[in-house]
Amino acid sequence: MEQKRIHEIPECAFEFHGHRCPAMPLGYLAGKYALKLLGIEKEKDTNTYVFSETGDEHHQGCFDDGVQAATGCTYGKGNYKRLQYGKMAIIVYKPGKGAVRIRPKPEILDGCSKFEFFKYRKSGIPASQVPREVSDEVINYVLSKDFEELFYYEFLKDFTYSSPKKTMARIVCDDCGEPTYENHIKIFNGKRLCPRCYEIERNKR
Ligand SMILES: [Zn+2]
Ligand SMILES: [Zn+2]
Repeated sequence: MEQKRIHEIPECAFEFHGHRCPAMPLGYLAGKYALKLLGIEKEKDTNTYVFSETGDEHHQGCFDDGVQAATGCTYGKGNYKRLQYGKMAIIVYKPGKGAVRIRPKPEILDGCSKFEFFKYRKSGIPASQVPREVSDEVINYVLSKDFEELFYYEFLKDFTYSSPKKTMARIVCDDCGEPTYENHIKIFNGKRLCPRCYEIERNKR
């Protein structure tokens, strides 16, 4: 079945993610849709937040990589948080602009599962080793649907969040001598310690 792509995923997103799978593009489009609904641009700094409802232990990280690539909210910058609910859904929030929750429609997830790509995956073949035409087939399925076909969304009226205060001050740990951001320093027997040295000292007792 020939499917016409109506979205494009930048190659750098695949490059960053490492392989070609349908969940990363799905996350990318979820992020794009959230930006569109909130009327905001991709975040350059840290003034937009993503709360992802995925969990560490599921095959959902692919979705998160796509969301990060689209929104500019990243794990590294600290404006991407996992809520550990085990669901494929995101809340995108920008103070003053509001919050929107996006989730792929279950029939889209089921639709993806029917493709040959998942036969490979279920037989233990890593996504990077699935033949390109097989992965492209399921990716094209995602890219051929418009936002309304792919996702449900809901504006969260009372949603609010303020990030903890950030520090730029470092203190040298009294044991290992390594600079440590001050909010992680712990005091033990009058010494200022990094978390690792603190654990070591504490276990000596
Ligand atoms: Zn992936
Ligand atoms: Zn230390």
